[in-house]
Amino acid sequence: MNGLGFKVDRVLRGIDAASRLGLRVKINTVVQRGVNDGELLELAAYFRERRLPLRFIEFMDVGNTNHWRQDQVVPAREVVDRLSAQWPLEPVGPAYRGEVAARYRYQDGGGEIGLISSVTEPFCRDCHRARLSADGRLFTCLFAALGWDVLGALRAGADDAELDRYLARVWQGRRDRYSDERAEVLASGDIRPKAEMSYLGG
Ligand code: SF4
Repeated sequence: MNGLGFKVDRVLRGIDAASRLGLRVKINTVVQRGVNDGELLELAAYFRERRLPLRFIEFMDVGNTNHWRQDQVVPAREVVDRLSAQWPLEPVGPAYRGEVAARYRYQDGGGEIGLISSVTEPFCRDCHRARLSADGRLFTCLFAALGWDVLGALRAGADDAELDRYLARVWQGRRDRYSDERAEVLASGDIRPKAEMSYLGG
């Protein structure tokens, strides 16, 4: 699923090595119907054994190249139901306002999972994420096409206070809520260009 043919065993060894060294590890996995939705229980069992939090992310229409289709979205609710039938789960309240993942813990003490349901239960209202691309552009939404030219402001000589004001102006002026609007946008056929996830840094 990484698109590069990169072998998963090296990734798994890396995860184990990072855990052994005491790094806080969290596993993100995008669930795609017909691709990996038949492996949810195996995946959960693997990371339950290691007590590593696993987060399931709904397949999103981020960027322009992932060939997203609505019928390949596995709703977060379905993931919870399927896992819960095997290992009963209970919700854990958010650690802070705007926490992206809805968290659940296994009732048998097997650790935690998280669900990111940006397609079936959008959370734009509480979104506080900004992303800075490697070429110095600030994106106020994962689904934006254009970023704000922070590098340009710096090159033009902005000092810390000016940069502070610039960022505050950008942030206060943002109206992003793509996931809330997704259904209308898609129904209208308004195919917007979007930045790729790899460019935004995830
Ligand atoms: S669609 Fe944009 S505004 Fe909504 S949660 Fe995602 S990044 Fe935030």
